[in-house]
Amino acid sequence: MQGVGFRPFVYRVAQISGIHGYVLNSSGGVVIEAEGAGPAINEFLRALRQQLPPLASIAQMTVSEMKPRGEQNFVIRESVPNAGQFALVPPDVATCADCLREIATPGDRRSGYPFTNCTNCGPRYTIIRDLPYDRPKTTMEPFRMCARCQAEYQDPANRRFHAEPNACPDCGPSLALVSAEQLASGSLPAFRSGRESSAILAWVRRLLRDGEIVAIKGLGGFHLACDAANDRAANLLRERKRRSGKAFAVMAKDLATVERLCETTGADRALLESVRRPIVLMRRRPDAAIAANVAPGTATLGVMLPYTPLHHLLFDESPGYNALVMTSGNMSEEPIVSRNEQAWPRLKNLADRFLLHNREIQTRVDDSVVQVFEGQVYPVRRSRGFAPEPIDLGMQLSEILACGGELKNTLCLTKDHYAILSQHIGDLENLETMEFFRETLDHLQRFFRVSPVAAAYDLHPNYMSTRFALEESGLRPIGVQHHHAHIASCMADNGLRGRVIGVALDGTGYGTDGRIWGGEFLTCGFAGFERRGHLQYVPLAGGDCAIRQPWRSAVAYLRSAFGSEALSLPLPLFEKIPRRQIALLDRMLTRNIQTVETSSCGRLFDAVSSILGLRHETTYEGQAAIELEMAASEASPSNLKSYPFAFRASNPFQINMAPAIEAIVRDSIARVTITEISARFHRTVAQVVMDSCLRIRETNGLNRVCLSGGTFQNLRLLGHTVEGLRGCNFEVFVHHRVPPNDGGLSLGQAMIANEVLMS
Ligand SMILES: [Zn+2]
Ligand SMILES: [Zn+2]
Repeated sequence: MQGVGFRPFVYRVAQISGIHGYVLNSSGGVVIEAEGAGPAINEFLRALRQQLPPLASIAQMTVSEMKPRGEQNFVIRESVPNAGQFALVPPDVATCADCLREIATPGDRRSGYPFTNCTNCGPRYTIIRDLPYDRPKTTMEPFRMCARCQAEYQDPANRRFHAEPNACPDCGPSLALVSAEQLASGSLPAFRSGRESSAILAWVRRLLRDGEIVAIKGLGGFHLACDAANDRAANLLRERKRRSGKAFAVMAKDLATVERLCETTGADRALLESVRRPIVLMRRRPDAAIAANVAPGTATLGVMLPYTPLHHLLFDESPGYNALVMTSGNMSEEPIVSRNEQAWPRLKNLADRFLLHNREIQTRVDDSVVQVFEGQVYPVRRSRGFAPEPIDLGMQLSEILACGGELKNTLCLTKDHYAILSQHIGDLENLETMEFFRETLDHLQRFFRVSPVAAAYDLHPNYMSTRFALEESGLRPIGVQHHHAHIASCMADNGLRGRVIGVALDGTGYGTDGRIWGGEFLTCGFAGFERRGHLQYVPLAGGDCAIRQPWRSAVAYLRSAFGSEALSLPLPLFEKIPRRQIALLDRMLTRNIQTVETSSCGRLFDAVSSILGLRHETTYEGQAAIELEMAASEASPSNLKSYPFAFRASNPFQINMAPAIEAIVRDSIARVTITEISARFHRTVAQVVMDSCLRIRETNGLNRVCLSGGTFQNLRLLGHTVEGLRGCNFEVFVHHRVPPNDGGLSLGQAMIANEVLMS
């Protein structure tokens, strides 16, 4: 355990217990030599376990006896390199209350200083270059501590005792604010002194108040920031970030501001204020003072609290705003920008001004995103504050690299009984993201001293992660089916062994029959799976276009339900989409030209969204489904019946959704509200899951159900499903440490590959 104030803590406990010896960080963990009388040693060990500092936890403690050496005192020793063992690299930690107080205290030497930190808080994963975690092996290396900082660093009684990134305005990193024009000239600004921070930040606050878009270099990369209540600024930012309708995250000044923006629960508030400081998705209040274009088409808002001194200072001195848009500094799906030199070439068309600092970001890390389900964390994106904290799997594993999927990629390394899941890497669709993938793999492999013996990969032949495993990794490749990986990930998340019923609902996953799966009912363990049932295939035409154009799914489903009469139905879709295009698609479907069969649940949601006239074309993944979920949000939960559907008793069984589509169309034509139709549709999918699980249980008695796949980010669906399954006495498991979407896929791949290696 490093970087969490553990060594100073050990020192203090040793002083109190009268123990002599030393403590040091090695890459294998913390080593303590304690010399003293038997009772004193016992007291010392008890205190270590019971009085841990807030950020520390002991994963494993090994005690062995040795001959007394006659130590005269207790010291903290310099770190020694110790290759080959397992070490923990801590995630970054939000600014602590003590540091905040100093920053806010006029006259304090760190008053207004945006890089203040101590052993309880500050940058970690983002600045560590190598182990053991010591200042020379971080990006703080170029900053020489001044005498006062050095004294703090060496004083065991000080909060900054061995705080590796310790800094003050005299010796630490500093800010520079530059215009786009200045950066365009190709030269980086001079970073003068940390003492100029206050003046620079006052200027930034003024710019933000006046509606400018500022690119701000933060902890794990750049954010694009603007006043979240300013319509003009939000519209401009959305325009510049291309036409995507994806919601922007917001940083709120404090908890009171969050409560004015969103309906919060105790669990939401605890997460918002936790040292991990994720973005929490919550239900937005109708009167929230947020520009319409910040999160269009959703009933939720993703909000986080400031997590670095720099962020806190952006809200200092009543700047005239209480919430800032803080969206990742990148174009659409490229990785987040982290270096000053990249700011201009990559963000030039996005921001008016650039707030830079001269502490390098070694490792790029995006903000994490979570939801709360039944009072528990339900991750959407596991990144800053979480990564690279190892996930305890409670079982010994081989050393494996799992390469993940294509979208929302994360990679996973396993060692001992831990999974080390990377931060969010992004969509592996371009060279930049693939470079980020390689870079992250290199870091994590070095930090955790992992030498993988195999590379697990998705069966999709065109994924870049698949190609990496097969052509580049040089490791034994082990292919894993996408939905099997989802369920294995949910099992690992919950520490399950043996066999379960797996329900994997998502958009796209390559099937063992070469078709696109996504509405899957499996029985499986880590060793192998059986496909017991799935949504009946519908043909989808137009390749990747079909994913961005829900109207294509709608036409396919309408055809499956109404045959040739489908095209003459009085639906909004046929007014919005040119006849010509529909006729062309119809010909492709009927003649099987460029079609692929899919059982995707995502496409079913797309179809219904388009049939109801909500969304015919999308600008980001999952948009049609998100808007369909939102449409149901006002529906009263009681007495809504599900629509009909039919089982075809083949092996695997197939679920025919045509009767539901027929009923939805009838309701839509009869002007039943979209709210009610959408709510009943959600009930229907939950009912499909319930009936399918009952069928499977009848044949084999399995009673544990794992729910995974991106579709289960839909909390309305998840809620109905969990409730229904529990009503049938199933034991239900959902994710709580890794995301149900493809961000959690690599964990499942690793578990399955481990099983293959053992057999
Ligand atoms: Zn602190
Ligand atoms: Zn200093």
